[in-house]
Amino acid sequence: MRRFRVISGRRLVRELSRKERTEFNKLQKRLRRNVGNAIADYTMIEAGDRVMVCLSGGKDSYAMLDVLLALRSSAPVDFELIAVNLDQKQPGFPEHVLPAYLEALDVPYYILEKDTYSVVRSVIPEGKTTCGLCSRLRRGSLYGFAADIGATKIALGHHRDDIVETLFLNLFFGGSLKAMPPKLLSDDKRNVVIRPMAYCKEKDLVAYADYKAFPIIPCNLCGSQENLQRVQIKQMLADWERQYPGRTETIFRGICNVAPSQLADTALFDFSNLRAEVDRDLHLPAIRVVNL
Ligand code: SF4
Repeated sequence: MRRFRVISGRRLVRELSRKERTEFNKLQKRLRRNVGNAIADYTMIEAGDRVMVCLSGGKDSYAMLDVLLALRSSAPVDFELIAVNLDQKQPGFPEHVLPAYLEALDVPYYILEKDTYSVVRSVIPEGKTTCGLCSRLRRGSLYGFAADIGATKIALGHHRDDIVETLFLNLFFGGSLKAMPPKLLSDDKRNVVIRPMAYCKEKDLVAYADYKAFPIIPCNLCGSQENLQRVQIKQMLADWERQYPGRTETIFRGICNVAPSQLADTALFDFSNLRAEVDRDLHLPAIRVVNL
């Protein structure tokens, strides 16, 4: 049987059978199309942008960099991509993995070193989940660095399923109807965050990472457990998807198709000024008894 190789930059990775190669090509096309559509729909990247691509070492950010590099080579406009990883000094973090990968891709990159791990450990009591604070500290460091290097956009690897999970987390545990936008201006207005993978299914990213044999660095080297509420939401969505295939996509489409007048947020829709357009004079009945 003929074997094929997936070529990732200068890296030659896992050999594929003819059937696998066909599946891989379809998957790659789909991911590129999804990312291209999200970029176009939200004007995520424009000519002259310097995009800081945040690389955690997880499957999603590897895929994001890979797809953005491919799209840039055929894009009608010029933009820069700079990969950035924050080494948070988790015990056992394999420092050599990302530099080796990025050197092979020949992409400009920075590895930032900041011991947020010790900060998190000193603040959060033993046994409690540390992901919330850890993520906030990571975000702060990355946003600050983006400004330092003059990045006009910060690309994060969140995908469609992350967005839907966040919707339910906020709805079930926060009492608010909000998810994760594909494009966001940071609170201090210094950074524009983009999520080019917003239209990509997590299932596709798992398969892509496997085909490409990305050198995955697990996030939980720190020993933290995933937030229990998020675990529950993931389980709920997985159960729904099994029972009603396509439901996650339908929910995501709902996030893109909001009708403020059909909700109840007075800040979002001006209910107080709703008036019927009635011409009272014209509709006055001529007689006092009307049979309907
Ligand atoms: S698993 Fe560890 S490194 Fe990953 S977000 Fe949570 S606390 Fe941070």
